[in-house]
Amino acid sequence: MTHAAEDVVDAEALWRELVREIPDFPVAGIGFKDITPVLAHPGAFAACADAMAERFAEAGVEAVAAAEARGFIFGIPVAERLGAGFAAVRKPGKLPAAVVGVTYELEYGTDRLEMHVDSFAPGARVLIVDDVLATGGTARATCDLVERAGGQLVGCAFFVELAFLGGRRRLEDVRVESLLTYT
Ligand code: AMP
Repeated sequence: MTHAAEDVVDAEALWRELVREIPDFPVAGIGFKDITPVLAHPGAFAACADAMAERFAEAGVEAVAAAEARGFIFGIPVAERLGAGFAAVRKPGKLPAAVVGVTYELEYGTDRLEMHVDSFAPGARVLIVDDVLATGGTARATCDLVERAGGQLVGCAFFVELAFLGGRRRLEDVRVESLLTYT
């Protein structure tokens, strides 16, 4: 079956054109990278999932872990392309069976993420996927969660990296790939 990604000649240029910055969202001073125009463009979005999966095609990925909500959007097609399972990382109280959880620091206050303990087999090779790498807090917490659940981290794949926020520094022990970097 063909899909629209094949019609995209210069994916990076198209992504850069589609991602739009919304100033002062959700609070004053934040330049929010809105990726929804990429989702609205079938070729651009398919090219995105293709490219993320391609970077880890030889990594023997057995499960993709991603945090709600935007992580799910990117993580699921990447898992499907890699022939891997999908591990849902959710806000507290959403998952019905036994969970592992991690509480992490935000700029103000703390947040918590949870994942089912049996999301993947012990020792499984796990790739983390998210839409945007900003300060790296969410990705770091997801890495800790995967390790706590007995997974073997193979890397983190992001659509967008806001390099000026230094999130990569919090992920020094893991391979990090991003498709679109803003400096
Ligand atoms: P962080 O934990 O700081 O790396 O970012 C947490 C999540 O918030 C990311 O997965 C993004 O979905 C979102 N996020 C943070 N900053 C931005 C931004 N400037 N534009 C768009 N999304 C962002």
